Parts: sequence; structure tokens; C-alpha cells
Amino acid sequence: MKDTFKHQGLRQQLVNTIKEKGITNDNVLKAIGKIPRHLFMDSGFLDHAYQDKAFPIAANQTISQPYTVAFQTELLQVEKGHKILEIGTGSGYQTAVLCLLGATVYSIERQLELFKITSKFLPKLGYRPKKLIFGDGYKGLKEEAPFDSIIVTAGAPMVPKALLGQLKIGGRLVIPVGEDVQTMTLFVRKGPKDFEQREFGEFRFVPMLEDKN
Ligand code: SAH
Repeated sequence: MKDTFKHQGLRQQLVNTIKEKGITNDNVLKAIGKIPRHLFMDSGFLDHAYQDKAFPIAANQTISQPYTVAFQTELLQVEKGHKILEIGTGSGYQTAVLCLLGATVYSIERQLELFKITSKFLPKLGYRPKKLIFGDGYKGLKEEAPFDSIIVTAGAPMVPKALLGQLKIGGRLVIPVGEDVQTMTLFVRKGPKDFEQREFGEFRFVPMLEDKN
């Protein structure tokens, strides 16, 4: 679990890369600059950890591309103390970004293997989400709702109603919607039944699947 000067240097280059691609939020850039992404990946991929690319992790899933993580996080407009629900814990990298921004984070993962690995790993690095849950993110997390924001990090064939219903008024849902290719979509809850919807270009995620595994 080493973080060397070389890693730190590569990480700074990665920050510059995503800045050039259009990420402007300073806190988000700082978080990407701090988190040792190489430790979230299988050792075989260590040399690639600071490329702006998605990579395979356990259970046939992927750690999202840093630009995508930054883009989604920017759309959330995270403030210290925000209560945030993440769907798709995966490697825990996005979870760590949210923790570092001072959010109170709940994160759901449907793959038992990943849930177990990441539950052990995150606290080792000092990231402490409020709760990691093994379950099905389509249902959200009713008992902890409402949330300031909800982020889905898997490609959703449709927008789960449960998630919209678990937002505070003014709350934001950031979700990639689509089958093969997804459109990054932001919903802002304006009233109990009133949602503003905006779209932000195409991305590719592993699919959001129903039920836990
Ligand atoms: N944020 C993660 C992304 C991992 S890929 C990271 O950066 O590492 C997406 C993750 O969503 C996978 O781990 C997948 O198992 C999980 N997933 C897919 N459908 C889900 C669902 N219905 N509920 C919870 N997690 C889900």
C-alpha cells in the first residue's frame, strides 16, 4: 500500500488532463489529486492507474474513468455535510472522492465479492463512508432518505422511480441512462412531483442490473 513520489507526480498529470477536458471544480480536482487510485486497482494494472481510462476490477466490473468520476461529482454540487447515496460502490474510488469532499456517504453494491473487498479496503485508507450496503440500488435506501444527492455509477436502462422519490426538494440525481451507450442525465427535484431534467453527453458504463448477486 505504497504511495510514492512517482505516483503523486502521475496523479498531478492526471489532474491536468481532466482539467484540460473541462473539469473546473477545485475541490473535485484536489480530491482526484489526493486519492491513490493505483491502490484501488488489481496490481496487474498499477502502471495504468493514472491514465484517464476505466479499468477492470473484480467480478467483471470496472473502476470508472477519472474524468467520468470528476464529471459526475461536479454535477452533484457536493457541499460539506451533504447526505449522498451512491449506487454501484465497485472499487470504492468514487466513494472515496465523496468522503474526501466531506459528504456523509451511503453506497450500495450488488456484487457480494466487491462489497466485501471494498468494505475492508476503504477504512484501511482512511475513507469512512457512513454505510456500505450489499443490496439492489434500484430500490434506493428508503430508511435513510431523503438525500441531498444520489449518484448512479452503472448504466441504467431506465430511471428508477424510487431514486427520484428519495431526493430532498432541491436534491440532485446524476444518472447515466441508456442500454449500450448512456446519456449523463441530471434531475433536480423542484417540488414533490416536479423534476427538472438536463442531459450532458454520452458515456459508457457497465450495466445497472436488478437484484443483488
Ligand atoms: N463507482 C465505481 C463504479 C464501478 S462499476 C468505481 O469507480 O469503482 C459499477 C458498479 O455498479 C459495479 O460494481 C456493479 O456491480 C454495480 N451495480 C450494478 N447494478 C447495481 C445495482 N442495481 N445496485 C447496486 N450496484 C449495482
